[in-house]
Amino acid sequence: AIELAGIEKRFGESHAVRGVDLAIASGEFVVILGPSGCGKSTLLRMIAGLEAVSAGTVSLDGVPMNGVEPGRRGCAMVFQNYALYPHMTVAENIGYGLRVAGVPKREREARVRSTAAMLDIETLLDRRPAALSGGQRQRVAMGRAMIRNPRVFLFDEPLSNLDAILRQQMRGEIKRLHRELRTTSVFVTHDQVEAMGMADRLVVMNAGRVEQVGPPADVFRRPASRFVAGFIGAPR
Ligand code: ATP
Ligand code: MG
Repeated sequence: AIELAGIEKRFGESHAVRGVDLAIASGEFVVILGPSGCGKSTLLRMIAGLEAVSAGTVSLDGVPMNGVEPGRRGCAMVFQNYALYPHMTVAENIGYGLRVAGVPKREREARVRSTAAMLDIETLLDRRPAALSGGQRQRVAMGRAMIRNPRVFLFDEPLSNLDAILRQQMRGEIKRLHRELRTTSVFVTHDQVEAMGMADRLVVMNAGRVEQVGPPADVFRRPASRFVAGFIGAPR
């Protein structure tokens, strides 16, 4: 479970996140939706520990994470640009986290193979990222995130570089992996259709604040503010 209590983020004068309180249950798939610049990535990065909070507490499974380094939080993040290592093969990219953690080579190779099999990229293990399609890179990024059995998956607009058909397919894949791996997932997007289709619960953000939280159908039928109504597209 993820608990955010009074989370704030300031960058100098600018206030990127303003007092976010949110509890996410284990196994839940939560989608954060909101316009560009509203603080989605910043919030995700604070959960991952890539960014320090200015105030408030992030807790994972009841344990406060203030000051805990990213590698020890059990969160795996998938970025929009995939952030693969260009000089490493697919296998090395996927296995990187295990290598850093000191997992022996033989075990690493076995886990890289089984992870690649789950993502249907076993035949690509010797290639470098430059020789992959966008969708294949996306799968490698997923593999790299999955391999350390994270308790939390954090997705920052992971599908925005893909064409419509592949996006649709990867939405299904991500939900399947979320269920099979029994993780808790937070998925950031500014795509309303994606958010409505994927979320167990939707979190609508605006200007650093949470405007509304609820199942997508509820948010759609009963938007809590003019902003939410306008953003989700329901008449009001
Ligand atoms: P997008 O949909 O465009 O990715 P976002 O909702 O992810 O937007 P953030 O990246 O979280 O938005 O940014 C929130 C606000 O914080 C923005 O006004 C941004 O300019 C500001 N911001 C983000 N990172 C920094 C930083 N390192 N230094 C200063 N300001 C920052
Ligand atoms: Mg962002």
